[in-house]
Amino acid sequence: MSVDTVIQGGTVVTADDTIEASVAIDEGEIVAVGSRAAMPDAENSVDASGLLVMPGVVDPHVHVDDMFSVDSYETATAAAALGGTTTYIDFAWQAWVGELSIFDAEGTLLEGIERKREKGESALVDYGLHGAITRETQGVLDELPDVLNAGVTSIKMFTAYEHGLSNGFMNRVFKRLADLDGVAVLHTEDPSVCDDLTERFQEEGKGDPEWYPRSRPDYAEAMAAEDAVRMATEAGCRYYGIHTSCRKSAAVLADFREQYGSDMVRAETCTHYTTLTDDVYEELGNKPMIAPPIREQDDVEAMFEHLSRGSLDVVSTDHCGYKTESKDVENWWESTFGANGLQVSLPIFHDAAVNDRGFSYPFLVRTMSRNPARIFGLSKKGAITPGMDADIVLFDPTETYTVTAADNASEADFSIYEGREVTGRVKKTFSRGELVADDGEIVGTPGHGEFVPREIPNWSV
Ligand SMILES: [Zn+2]
Repeated sequence: MSVDTVIQGGTVVTADDTIEASVAIDEGEIVAVGSRAAMPDAENSVDASGLLVMPGVVDPHVHVDDMFSVDSYETATAAAALGGTTTYIDFAWQAWVGELSIFDAEGTLLEGIERKREKGESALVDYGLHGAITRETQGVLDELPDVLNAGVTSIKMFTAYEHGLSNGFMNRVFKRLADLDGVAVLHTEDPSVCDDLTERFQEEGKGDPEWYPRSRPDYAEAMAAEDAVRMATEAGCRYYGIHTSCRKSAAVLADFREQYGSDMVRAETCTHYTTLTDDVYEELGNKPMIAPPIREQDDVEAMFEHLSRGSLDVVSTDHCGYKTESKDVENWWESTFGANGLQVSLPIFHDAAVNDRGFSYPFLVRTMSRNPARIFGLSKKGAITPGMDADIVLFDPTETYTVTAADNASEADFSIYEGREVTGRVKKTFSRGELVADDGEIVGTPGHGEFVPREIPNWSV
């Protein structure tokens, strides 16, 4: 038997261990992991000496080609490939009409899925979709079974912004999702607290970016998280808290997880909440204006404590591709909310977690690949074992380089990590066996990436 590719000489990282092993790939799948002698003949041989061979990053929180990102699927997936991310999950929106929206009429989640799948035709790596409910309609409750059947098995809801939902309606969605065994994905910030503080600051002329984090305080995030996770667990609905940014909300989620079990409550933080503090608002102005805001050093410590304990499962990016011009405004409240991060998430988090804090490579694989794949029903992603998709990143843990937006494949023309020196660099990225990024260059073909219908996940493992 002869296979397409063998990657040899590297150190394979699993969720529990590191092993010196070769990996054989055929027709896009991993077919063998073992000693070099045990590998079949291959058309291509890839030398991974001195490199880590890791499953591609699975980023479950990415915004592409809509009101929250100027990136196209082509530019976002190029950034992903260069950063070692081989699958991301974007959002299929229920169209609404409003100041923040790009839609001119209300629509359905199924239309949102269709729209994103069309945009996804230029993808370089694979992607999935969360449904995002923005309007309190009977129609959206009625279409949920079809949405889940379309491979969109998680539904995002916001407590804040013009597309936020009331507790009453969220309660109905949780009950419906509980019946269907779907996953609820929650953005939690108490809207009345945040809106009132914002209005005060506007009246007082506090438009400098340093005021921004004070307009969306940690307790407002924790309050809304507590309401939402309480309703979800009461309803028997699985809950995933996105972009947990602070000690207070992480503690709320950890409490409910303790009480209801990890088969009911899961959560993520983002790369920036583990690597930046609110000093960035003085240094970078509105560029790191992200909701929830970047917090304090103690919150960074809390993120690592919870990741280490397992009460936070995942590190995502919340990538939003915005241009500097949308940040270059007089008052922070006129700025766009969000920042790009897909291309550097793995090297930045690796440097902070492994090099600075002594976490292991398997920890990196758990939080960035295995856990998000399992939590979101991507059964062929997130591990290097036979039968899985050959989504593989070759990573040099010793190469040092400086992050700069000049390297961005994203349409976004700045980096909130500009000038940061990191040790650890992505050398090659394979998507289902095809080399898509090689030493900082895109070598894959747009259109290779596919929409991945996700299964109803099993949270008991
Ligand atoms: Zn987001």
